[in-house]
Amino acid sequence: MIIPISEPSLEGNEKKYLMETVASSWISSAGEFVSKFEHSFSDYCGVKHGVATANGTVALHLALVALGIGKGDEVVVPNLTFAATINSVLYTGATPVIVDIEQESWCISPEEIEKAITKKTKAIIPVHLFGQPCDMERICDIANKYNLKIVEDCAQAHGAEYLGSKVGSFGDINCFSFYGNKIVTTGEGGMCVTNDTELNDKMRILKDHGMSKTKRYYHEVVGFNYRMTNMQSAIGAAQMERIDEMLMWRKELEKAYKSRFSEIQHLQLQKDDLANRKKVTWLISALVPAKKRNNCVQKLGEAGFDTRVFFYPLSSMSIYKSYVFSDKISTAIAEQGINFPTIRRLSNENIDDMAKILRDCL
Ligand SMILES: *Cc1c(COP(=O)(O)O)cnc(C)c1O
Repeated sequence: MIIPISEPSLEGNEKKYLMETVASSWISSAGEFVSKFEHSFSDYCGVKHGVATANGTVALHLALVALGIGKGDEVVVPNLTFAATINSVLYTGATPVIVDIEQESWCISPEEIEKAITKKTKAIIPVHLFGQPCDMERICDIANKYNLKIVEDCAQAHGAEYLGSKVGSFGDINCFSFYGNKIVTTGEGGMCVTNDTELNDKMRILKDHGMSKTKRYYHEVVGFNYRMTNMQSAIGAAQMERIDEMLMWRKELEKAYKSRFSEIQHLQLQKDDLANRKKVTWLISALVPAKKRNNCVQKLGEAGFDTRVFFYPLSSMSIYKSYVFSDKISTAIAEQGINFPTIRRLSNENIDDMAKILRDCL
């Protein structure tokens, strides 16, 4: 493969700060960069507290445990997402309830959420898929009406906004991933952000073996080791110095794709003009007819362009099947979706080449 689908952008102070952790010998999870990164990231989201974690999956698990979700509870999740969303629910012993998505946004459908609610429902995990914010106004209304918790899964949408507020500022606890292909990366890493000081304190104890903050080696709850290292945080702190710039080149790239792909018949780029929503560019995404998709992927691959098809819908996998409430739209969309290379060094000529191949295929 000549052109990868994504690659981290590490041109700022990433190396410098990382080397500082090595030079100082503070390479484990104590060290100044952890709180520095937590503060810069939560400030960016407009949220009071940030709790750094080892990855995005354990951030979701930590959030659910801190909210008291467990056996006998139901948690509503979208059918089209990365498996970590539903796995985090299963880790707690709660029962996930898989619901369908909206046709236009590809995000969880508020109507389907409301239909799926039972007496056991305790929480909703809206996933801002491929940088597109969910309909947070309606989801928050539903949560208020039925007294449910919200845990936003923001792993693919750092910096996206709904009605002028950043994703990560709507739910009770909201989770990010900093995996290598995410908009902000620390290699592996995650964060829970919250405005609730009590939940913040609770998560800090839970992620550090459940150890008392005042009495060392005295454990108040059965906790986890979900800590992020100072090395990862150093990279994260450097990334946060450049987040606006990184989102800008991503947006410019999306525009370049849009101007070259919008005339291709039978190809529909992800919507970027939905009411109240300001999406960010994670992976450039588009739908093509299901029957032609695999041929498109193959032809692009032969020309050196790495692409990805969308996630399999959760409802299509036997381990999740029994949790499905509704899955019609997500099943259709998942079969049509392709993600295209979203890297800084992609040239307009590269996009022209892909457009030509797609025109031939479609
Ligand atoms: C990446 C991702 C996660 C998990 O993050 P990791 O850091 O890889 O554990 C969770 N949810 C979604 C939607 C993701 O894309």
